[in-house]
Amino acid sequence: MTLPVYILRCLDALEGAGFPAYAVGGCIRDLLLGRQPQDYDLCTAARPEEVRQIFSGYPQVLSGVKHGTVGVVTEGGLVEITTFRREGGYQDSRRPDWVEFVPHIAEDLARRDFTVNAMAYSPRRGLCDPFGGQADLQAGLLRTVGDPAARFTEDALRILRGLRFAAAYGLTIVPETAQAMLTLRAGLDALARERVFDELCRLLLWADAALLCRFAPILAQAVPELRSTLGFLQHSPHHAYDVFTHTAHVVESVPRELPLRWAALLHDVGKPAAFTLDEHGRGHFRGHAEISAALAENALRRLKAPAALREQAVLLVSLHMLDIPPDKKLLRRRICRYGMDTLRQLLALQRADFGGKGTGRNESHPEFDQAEALLQEIQEEHACLSLKDLAVSGHDLLALGYAPGRALGACLERLLTQVVDGELPNEKESLLDAAKRFQQEHPQM
Ligand code: ATP
Ligand code: MG
Repeated sequence: MTLPVYILRCLDALEGAGFPAYAVGGCIRDLLLGRQPQDYDLCTAARPEEVRQIFSGYPQVLSGVKHGTVGVVTEGGLVEITTFRREGGYQDSRRPDWVEFVPHIAEDLARRDFTVNAMAYSPRRGLCDPFGGQADLQAGLLRTVGDPAARFTEDALRILRGLRFAAAYGLTIVPETAQAMLTLRAGLDALARERVFDELCRLLLWADAALLCRFAPILAQAVPELRSTLGFLQHSPHHAYDVFTHTAHVVESVPRELPLRWAALLHDVGKPAAFTLDEHGRGHFRGHAEISAALAENALRRLKAPAALREQAVLLVSLHMLDIPPDKKLLRRRICRYGMDTLRQLLALQRADFGGKGTGRNESHPEFDQAEALLQEIQEEHACLSLKDLAVSGHDLLALGYAPGRALGACLERLLTQVVDGELPNEKESLLDAAKRFQQEHPQM
């Protein structure tokens, strides 16, 4: 296992002062898998004040010092060095309720969540793996350190972390761990919403449909808006799956972008409320996109999602039934109204929605390819598609004698529509002429 030079230097500095020190946790898991670690966490027998002393020549980040973590800004970036510790529950925050420093690495590893995350390594001390993490990794298994029920009761976030690790690393969750995850899911209600949201984001980026379906009750615990979709039959020849199973397939199929993954998860949560059965026994879901959007808004607010992500996901949900025909003129109008990025995301969502019906027929649709190709063409034309591309501005209209306000805005919108539809060239003179005519036709505005 090769550690970067700046990490080796930190380990040497600690060992040189007489303190055992290791790289620990996710970085060891990643290195054993041949993946590039995102960052390297170190742990040591040195107390925080001792760590501060040893690295006194470096800038230090001390926000975690109460819990034993000193951040050292090295030439390779920030390295978090944490004193071996035991800890209490995480009930309400990102930090444990209490910590107690301990002299030995084995006790520190025992507080960690999964065996694959409970390994430490240093070149001079070798691999420390008291719970068989390396063997589990080789066998492709995810297992808690110790009794799963106890570990998920201490910190229910581990349930979501476990699903995320299983998804991201293709691990099979061993039966006792999987069972305890499902049984103890109500513990998620007591967690800080931000922790749940962050973990759900990471899970959504990695999860496949099979994992989402198997652990659907856990998702519905974290996002109660999903609950009524579990097993909800659609009574439609177009849908072989119940609403949640369909949802899981859509999540899996959209690109790995957070607004899209969230929109996919929530796009049909309004279906149960919109459901009607006609005289032929067929299900209909009129108006479900609007209901889904309202429920999505609630869910994402409750989870304290950042506003930009929430707004984009809700917009995609509300528009997921929008007709996007492969017609250049109509597409230009849609881009003008919603923006190019949103339209691309909508197409991706609709493609996945269409492909996730489970009927095995008609699951690809040439219209999506055509619309996508046209979007590309429109992009390459650098055509005028928004007010900022228009060859006249509000200032020009003020100079024509428009008063600031509604009439001016309406005129700009109208000019834009005509340019987008190809009825006017995007040239200053013709636009100013059109603006004068508009003023004469609507003197009352
Ligand atoms: P990644 O950073 O790739 O998401 P990671 O395993 O490094 O994965 P971190 O959240 O950075 O995850 O945590 C570092 C280590 O701290 C973990 O590997 C694990 O040993 C331990 N850990 C983190 N969160 C918990 C928790 N809630 N319960 C128990 N141990 C945890
Ligand atoms: Mg990490």
